[in-house]
Amino acid sequence: SRNLNVADPALAKMISQEVERQHQHIELIASENYTSPAVMEAQGSQLTNKYAEGYPGKRFYGGCEFVDQVEQIAIDRLKALYGAEYANVQPHSGSQANQAVYFSILKPGDTVMGMNLGHGGHLTHGSPANLSGKLFNIVPYGLNDKEEIDYDEMERIAIECKPKLLIGGASAYALRFDWARMAEIAKKVGAYFMVDMAHYSGLIAAGVYPNPVPHADFVTSTTHKTLRGPRGGIIMAKAEFEKSINSNVFPSLQGGPLMHVIAGKATAFLEAAQPEFKVYQEQVLKNASAMAKTLAERGLRIISGRTESHVFLVDLRPKNLTGKAADAYLGQAHITVNKNAIPNDPESPFVTSGIRIGSPAITTRGFKEAEAEQVAHLIADVLDNPESADVIAATKAKVHALADKFPVYGK
Ligand code: PLP
Repeated sequence: SRNLNVADPALAKMISQEVERQHQHIELIASENYTSPAVMEAQGSQLTNKYAEGYPGKRFYGGCEFVDQVEQIAIDRLKALYGAEYANVQPHSGSQANQAVYFSILKPGDTVMGMNLGHGGHLTHGSPANLSGKLFNIVPYGLNDKEEIDYDEMERIAIECKPKLLIGGASAYALRFDWARMAEIAKKVGAYFMVDMAHYSGLIAAGVYPNPVPHADFVTSTTHKTLRGPRGGIIMAKAEFEKSINSNVFPSLQGGPLMHVIAGKATAFLEAAQPEFKVYQEQVLKNASAMAKTLAERGLRIISGRTESHVFLVDLRPKNLTGKAADAYLGQAHITVNKNAIPNDPESPFVTSGIRIGSPAITTRGFKEAEAEQVAHLIADVLDNPESADVIAATKAKVHALADKFPVYGK
């Protein structure tokens, strides 16, 4: 057996450069995090060698006695974490989890209500470029003048268009969703109610953001964002949907499950049930609020005026910058964000007037409010002087000093 740096030195070098980048840069992409060494060990294990089509106890391959236990413990831990009646841990991604729900209850041409993508919704909730938008008749709901979800308008639209499915959840919405109100609206019009909690699932596991599981027919998530597990997807649902969800994941959409990833998910669910995880998620909220407040004090506009989660959007127009430009300038200073459309953005989706900022990754590496405020000041310094090579260089040096003080994985 040969180590990667002997077997494939070119690739080993690329990986070590990425490891160094993850250490040196300040990571503010709201959908990213640093998973634990235990999760990576499970995911890097020999379980990658095993085929296990089917479900625990009902496989199409022999030799599944141990991976059956792995999948079962992942399912049991997930159900306990969120109080779900049924769980499926096989979806390879968040997108595939959503597709499996859609195909369990919808036919092409059916009407689906999801959050307007320009107001914070996700591609898989009805973008014309995504299968969801190509197959279904998508009717969006969105935000009111205060940049908060307009539930009265949602109800009015639902009564008018009679959707078969109402989708809650978003990729760029800073506030709490009112799951009970959405469930009421869905019930009133005879729609199924699905929540894609991908962004919020870690906060929800820790009890610091409302849990949709008691309210929704289906709840999907990724496992790699605030939940801090391996890359992948999950589905929870009311018990009555077990058969249709299982068959829509396998054999309808996927083949063999990734048993090594399922092992990583099981470890992540265990970690998410620990008291330290609640302390972590409380800090995630504090750090996001501290950054939003400081950026507002430095003259930027925060969409919805505040955050109640790990994420928020910044309107850059007060600084006469586009999202594309700000993303690039901050990148030069080794601060990683993503450009993001803001509600009613006058710019194209490739340019945008905003950036999205999230606190999960910096909080995992140990930043508290003082460091979060410092990060916000560093961002504002760059955005106040975007053309200054001196400011970029000075900021980058401060970023590296801060990164060295808080090594990822205690390097
Ligand atoms: N759902 C939401 C709300 C997301 O934000 C994302 C990813 O950004 C996904 C689903 C898709 O997950 P994946 O990239 O694993 O397909």
